[in-house]
Amino acid sequence: MILQIADVAWLVVCAALVFLMQAGFLCLESGMTRSKNSINVALKNVADFGISVVLFWGIGFGLMFGASQNGWLGTTHFFVSFNGGEPSLAAFFLFQAMFCGTATTIVSGAVAERMRFSGYLVVAVLLSALVYTLFGHWAWASVFNGRGGWLQQRGFVDFAGSTVVHSVGGWVALAAALVIGPRRGKFGADGTPRRFGRQNVPMASLGVLLLWIGWFGFNGGSTFHMNDQVPSIIANTTLGGAAGMVSALALAWWKYGRPDANAVLNGALAGLVSVTANCHAIEAPAAILIGGIGGAVMLITASLLERFQIDDVVGAIPVHVGAGVWGTVAVALFADLNSLGTGLTRPAQLGSQLLGVAVCCCWAFGVSYVTLKLIDRRFPLRVSAEDEEKGLNVAEHGESTELFDLLTTMNLQTRAGNWNLRVPVEPFTEVGEIAVMYNQVLDSLSRASEEKQKYAEKLERSNQDLTDFAFIASHDLHAPLRRVRSFCNLLQQRYRETLDEEAKEFMDIIVSEADAMQVLIDDLLNFSRVTSHGKPIASTDSEQVFDSTLQRLHATIHESEAQITHGPLPTVHADTTQLGQLFQNLLSNAIKYCRGQPRVHVSATSQNGEIVFSVRDNGIGVPPEHAEDIFFMLKRLHSADEYPGTGVGLAICKRIIERHGGRIWIDSMHEQGSEFFFTMPIVE
Ligand code: ADP
Repeated sequence: MILQIADVAWLVVCAALVFLMQAGFLCLESGMTRSKNSINVALKNVADFGISVVLFWGIGFGLMFGASQNGWLGTTHFFVSFNGGEPSLAAFFLFQAMFCGTATTIVSGAVAERMRFSGYLVVAVLLSALVYTLFGHWAWASVFNGRGGWLQQRGFVDFAGSTVVHSVGGWVALAAALVIGPRRGKFGADGTPRRFGRQNVPMASLGVLLLWIGWFGFNGGSTFHMNDQVPSIIANTTLGGAAGMVSALALAWWKYGRPDANAVLNGALAGLVSVTANCHAIEAPAAILIGGIGGAVMLITASLLERFQIDDVVGAIPVHVGAGVWGTVAVALFADLNSLGTGLTRPAQLGSQLLGVAVCCCWAFGVSYVTLKLIDRRFPLRVSAEDEEKGLNVAEHGESTELFDLLTTMNLQTRAGNWNLRVPVEPFTEVGEIAVMYNQVLDSLSRASEEKQKYAEKLERSNQDLTDFAFIASHDLHAPLRRVRSFCNLLQQRYRETLDEEAKEFMDIIVSEADAMQVLIDDLLNFSRVTSHGKPIASTDSEQVFDSTLQRLHATIHESEAQITHGPLPTVHADTTQLGQLFQNLLSNAIKYCRGQPRVHVSATSQNGEIVFSVRDNGIGVPPEHAEDIFFMLKRLHSADEYPGTGVGLAICKRIIERHGGRIWIDSMHEQGSEFFFTMPIVE
């Protein structure tokens, strides 16, 4: 191939424009992925370009454009050199190397966020050394060496590569996506797809525009000459892209009720891919139609992929396979047959186009699927679930992001419960601003919690003072009241006969009030003892404690003719005095709140590492709505005339049990007896 110098210049400019498409892919793909994977995607886009250019120089160019072996593969021009400055060959090589890079980089977007970097490089090698270049020979070899590849000899036309570049990349992407499977959590159990966040849609949009500019060189350079065809080719290219964007936008708006970002971006690309095969041989209205249908085909392919639960992160397969296939078929439907120069009728041309599409599918998809599947068995192409969770930026490249640092510190705080830690602040970034705000929230939380702590301590001190006061007051009142009661007894015994009726009545009132005060003061004393003067908790034989309680209650039991029975009672961790107090309160209530002869049964069972005591009586019962409030201080359900009492007994029981780390509750029906339960720690 010998080119005029103007053509060489044009080809070099176009090569630069096609190179710009790499930047476009990089922005698009890293913008459309989550920030924890963006660095990985960007690096894959740069790395695959390097690999594909080196391989294309060594092997690919020769296989694709070398002297043809029966139209199947090229056999010369390996490790090509430019013969001391031959401009045509160098320009042609440069332009084609950019094409190879483009085909290769299509895959990275589809397999983003879960494919190993090394696995991706394997795909890049396979694609640029073998899959792309051999198919390229079959379709395009004559451009350089005059003799066409076997597909071309059958009339297959693909002007700038809807199939040769885009579908090849897309089919390999599909194979790789199938082998590695969808991202974790992408599809629910019922197959519903989940939308993941994208780190930077504006950057992805810039990527699409860069790709669009690159396409001017991609299609415009495919004439290899700066001739009068070039302007219409570029105009058709732009019309196709614009129509693809408009149709996908309109359809998605109609379907989802919103101008969907994917539709806008991928619609334009689908339109561009669709006209790539035919832009040299169509009129403007056809470019609009082909591009528009391309946008629709892209949307249909995307929903098919979702239905089959194939995860393509950026929509590379719908754009490059869907629209690529359509654009290649459209050659036969819309192109001016004379311009194609194949000499075929329209139906025959359609047959050739379909043959090309089918061969591309079998070859690109088939070879890569089998190869990747075999490799995956020995060397998994997918990262571990843990790495996927962490994000490939950190897992694969050790590259942290501010967001990752922020989340790591937050995670540490949550797990260690260390709220004194502060997250790192990266100035002049969005994440940095969040970190500053988060630290401020933590500061004010710490201050509030310190204040709360201070109040709690103050409250605790006041509570202690009050309890001490209750203890001292009840203790000091106890003795004088006893004396008042004794003198009343004395007065009654010695002088009762001499008193008139009114004085006797006054005397009775004094005695009963003194008795009531005595009970109240006893309860108060017990309560303050429980709260502040508890003895150490030790192993206690609860049966022994229960027996001595019965002795203490002897008079009450005797008077009421109560029948008290009990099962075996175990050894528990308890303060002996307080356990006795507990039994005493519950037993005296069981006897007191009964209309006939009281029958009380006490038992204990071991459950889940603790002892559950039960005190069951046949008394008047407690209505269920009061099952909780009877444990509140001073809560009484009856008047003092009906059942004398102070409303302190059960509150004392609750305190005692809580001090032992247990619980107390009641199971009772009104008028049908009650069963009190309480738990105590077991002794092994
Ligand atoms: P007091 O017996 O001095 O009133 P408690 O705190 O011991 O105070 O009991 C609170 C209330 O719970 C009692 O007034 C009574 O209404 C109810 N109660 C307690 N034990 C029983 C029981 N075994 N049967 C029926 N009601 C009870």
